Amino acid sequence: MRDRYGRDIYYLRISITDRCNLRCIYCMPNGIVNYIPHKDILRFEEISEIVDSATEIGFSSVRITGGEPLVRKGAPKLVGLLKEIKGIKRVTMTTNGILLNKYAEELKEKGIDSINVSLDTLDTKKYRLITRNGNLNDVLSGIEKALNIGLDIRLNVVLQKGNVDEIKELIRYSKTMGVSIRFIEYMPLDSCINLSEGSFVSSGRMIELIESEFGPIEETDYVVGDGPAKYINIKSIGIYMGIISAVSTPFCSSCNRIRITSNGIVKPCLASNIGYDIRNVVRRGHKREDITDVLIKAIDDKPLKHHLTDGNSNIEMRKIGG
Ligand code: SAM
Ligand code: SF4
Repeated sequence: MRDRYGRDIYYLRISITDRCNLRCIYCMPNGIVNYIPHKDILRFEEISEIVDSATEIGFSSVRITGGEPLVRKGAPKLVGLLKEIKGIKRVTMTTNGILLNKYAEELKEKGIDSINVSLDTLDTKKYRLITRNGNLNDVLSGIEKALNIGLDIRLNVVLQKGNVDEIKELIRYSKTMGVSIRFIEYMPLDSCINLSEGSFVSSGRMIELIESEFGPIEETDYVVGDGPAKYINIKSIGIYMGIISAVSTPFCSSCNRIRITSNGIVKPCLASNIGYDIRNVVRRGHKREDITDVLIKAIDDKPLKHHLTDGNSNIEMRKIGG
């Protein structure tokens, strides 16, 4: 469906839990976190019904995210349910990869189309610092397992002052493993600790660093999946890699998505303060149009551009799922 600015909105990002087995410094607060009670979380059948209805207004691609989606019991089962929906062409997931080794086979069996794995560093100690005690080897073994069984894996790196020195190693790792890699600008959010002053690394700076190591790059129109990454060709080593510059060069004019939180709030934009409750609709007597009506309202409310940098950053990534 086209929104009022002519953008084609066909991509649904669904957070299936606000819980996580990591506590990344730029995403989760350190102290006690008030989780959404289980009774308020959309059940898989409810998600499946929402997605099925969403196909009627042109949605064809779904990403399952979190918190950490693989901590929710039966997450691969949801992949299977969504893959059965006529009109859904792609079902993907974003995960921190900690449980990927355990679930890779089941995800493959259920037909997942691709998996984004978040990996900010190849250094065990730094990984522990960034994720507040995560074990890097769990992720690396998950990636290997997934690749060995033929899953399509892509790497997501949030680049900031604490890991910017690893940009070249991460690019080389992606080349060695034969996987696509994307560097994401860190978004300062009020809901968790802001990394120290000067932590932000712009996409322009990323390109400078890449060129200083690998020589001139070439900008391309290459498109991978439904994401907003701009791809560059690093000619000297023959790889295409993505940069997601949500802060310095927002890609709002080509935005194709809306989001649903795990408790059923439909968000027109990552940075929206408003949301529409879809859980109440699926939990009471309803017709299919009642579900699509909520989605249409959210699409109608999509802003022309996000307000991440206007001091309106009170978003909680762990609830919205990135
Ligand atoms: N737990 C899963 C994971 O980490 O991949 C999925 C949810 S996580 C919120 C989705 C993505 O958002 C991850 O790639 C994560 O690195 C990114 N993210 C979280 N906080 C961020 C921030 N402040 N700025 C930029 N990206 C962020
Ligand atoms: Fe968990 Fe993902 Fe947030 Fe890290 S980025 S704390 S893995 S939800």
